[in-house]
Amino acid sequence: MDSHTTMDVRGIYRIEGESIMCPYCKGNNVVDIYYGIPFQYHLEAERNGELRYGGHTRHEDSFDKFCKDCKIGYKEKEDE
Ligand SMILES: [Zn+2]
Repeated sequence: MDSHTTMDVRGIYRIEGESIMCPYCKGNNVVDIYYGIPFQYHLEAERNGELRYGGHTRHEDSFDKFCKDCKIGYKEKEDE
């Protein structure tokens, strides 16, 4: 696999051309869920609806993405 990754201003890695699609509604009104200590830009991004803050601790079964249409979080990939 030779995929290009970029890191945006919020420090979130994203694979170029990655399709962000909700598995439930197949829509793309999906944002990343951020875990850890929130900085000002995380809170602003959440206010702008570009990010969802998931809490301080990321657990094994924590969701990676949140669909704003379904109002539901989901795991992007299952870790093997
Ligand atoms: Zn959805």
